Amino acid sequence: MKILVINAGSSSLKYQLYDMTDESVLAKGLVERIGMDSSIVTHKPTGRPDVTEVSEILEHTTAIRKVLALLTDKENGVIESVDEIQAVGHRVVHGGEFFKESALVDAEAKSKIRQLFDLAPLHNPASMLGIKATEANMPGVPQVVVFDTAFHQTMPETAYLYAIPRVLYNKYKVRRYGMHGTSHDFVSKAAADFLGRPLEDLKIITCHIGNGASLTAVDGGKSVDTSMGMTPLEGLMMGTRSGDLDPAIVPYVMNKEELTVNEVNSMLNKHSGLLAISGISSDMREITEGMEKGDAHSKLAFDMYEYRLRKYIGSYAAALNGVDVIVFTAGVGENSVVLRKKVCENLTYLGVELDEELNAVRSGEPRRISSRNSKVEVLVVPTNEELVIARDTNRIVQSLNA
Ligand code: AMP
Repeated sequence: MKILVINAGSSSLKYQLYDMTDESVLAKGLVERIGMDSSIVTHKPTGRPDVTEVSEILEHTTAIRKVLALLTDKENGVIESVDEIQAVGHRVVHGGEFFKESALVDAEAKSKIRQLFDLAPLHNPASMLGIKATEANMPGVPQVVVFDTAFHQTMPETAYLYAIPRVLYNKYKVRRYGMHGTSHDFVSKAAADFLGRPLEDLKIITCHIGNGASLTAVDGGKSVDTSMGMTPLEGLMMGTRSGDLDPAIVPYVMNKEELTVNEVNSMLNKHSGLLAISGISSDMREITEGMEKGDAHSKLAFDMYEYRLRKYIGSYAAALNGVDVIVFTAGVGENSVVLRKKVCENLTYLGVELDEELNAVRSGEPRRISSRNSKVEVLVVPTNEELVIARDTNRIVQSLNA
């Protein structure tokens, strides 16, 4: 079965075509600047040179038409005909309380995703554009939606409710939902596989630290707490997001600086985090470089980032009443040797002992970075959210045919 995985943003569309017989990626790519002056399409057929095109793509239906044309192109294509694509899987950020797992796209699923536009105003409308554009280009092909929030639906009330008037939950569903669920799910299962131990027996803290960052406490394979909240703003310090702060700062600053709701939202989501503290960049590579060259602001940004991450690991060890495995994943977690070293050096009270040589190894495979004597297994597990989407889509579509 060949499955197209689509991740639609408001002005972008990422895609990967999987052959599920061996879970190989036949091609992947990105359409950027949809609806703007000149859109850029980057198509990457596996094992062949990338193709970049600039063209006028005004909306998502045209973007998917372009993707299908590239996938079947005589020179740069990887399949003969669009008919070979038997299903499409979409990443959808917010599934609210409706979706505890991935689902087939039908009228009811679409209506629920629409009802969640308020909770994810930047993301869910874009996913809907992707779904509709797929319907227009590939009528009759089954589509599946895979949610960032679904894995966290196992959290207990104690973890997902905020200590604010209950009416806000009853009326507007204000609560913690968490994000990056496909990644936390994938790496916790991969960690158990790697260790050859039953997932049910393990207390795992998964650290998804990329441009956006979140931690999850996974008990016996189930998410019991996670650091992102109703939106991705809560929790760790991130590339451009503030993470946790005293909520009273928001009205105070709005008042002093005469900011609108949109302006304060933009400040906390786009102009905070590593970028704000370093004054240089939101990219951990540049922060590390700055720090190594002696830049005090970069060092402070790094230290704050590491300190907050370490505090969250400690609080999740408390939430789980112990920890067997800590997993690092995503851009920073998979690549930053120095951040992992600093975090682990400060977790000796949990019995964590890092093996510095193993920590310095680079590989695209799951690997152990803790020493033989460490009481906690510390792993680096490359995440693969697209593969989770392809697998879920495959499973749901196969069950239709069964
Ligand atoms: P992601 O959102 O998972 O794609 O992660 C993106 C982030 O990973 C970038 O913003 C970088 O800060 C970070 N990153 C990638 N490579 C490295 C590296 N070698 N060292 C430190 N950070 C890295």
